[in-house]
Amino acid sequence: MFLSQFQTIGNNLFTRGMVSSESGNLSIRTGDNLVITRRGCRLENISENDLIETGIYRNNRITPLASAELPVHRAIYQTTRAQAIVHAHPPHAVTLSLTERDIVPNPELISEICSVPVIGWGVKVVPGTLEDEIAAALRDHRIVLVRGHGSFAIGQLMEEAYNLTMALEESCQVSCLLKSIR
Ligand SMILES: [Zn+2]
Repeated sequence: MFLSQFQTIGNNLFTRGMVSSESGNLSIRTGDNLVITRRGCRLENISENDLIETGIYRNNRITPLASAELPVHRAIYQTTRAQAIVHAHPPHAVTLSLTERDIVPNPELISEICSVPVIGWGVKVVPGTLEDEIAAALRDHRIVLVRGHGSFAIGQLMEEAYNLTMALEESCQVSCLLKSIR
């Protein structure tokens, strides 16, 4: 039932360079459960077997198969009203996250994002960690960056979270280009 939206978004993220092999993950909320991509899943080629349904608050027998970022997805659903999460590695946004603590996208390019907090300063960033900080930041923002790693975007629809990810990356690409000609 959810497969086609996972496939469409996963394929778009891969085609547009937002994830590489086995990176990135997607999920949706289904009541007290979530459906998340499998650990090691290739987002460009998602099949039924790559979708793992487990609890937002509790484990089941297939929980160990879920993405390594499961703790972050769970914390976000526990803390916010998100119905869908897109985690990607947008290259220009990740580049800026290494030097900026807060990214302010160009309002001429994106009107829907005011600022994007960068989380993970001063700590070693490991996938599946910083869940409390990421979830807390997503109470007031719809997209955040983990320093040197990637973005977590939320929405009522997965497509909304995908569109935010792309909008942030496009703005960051322009920022990087502007920096290079100054
Ligand atoms: Zn990642």
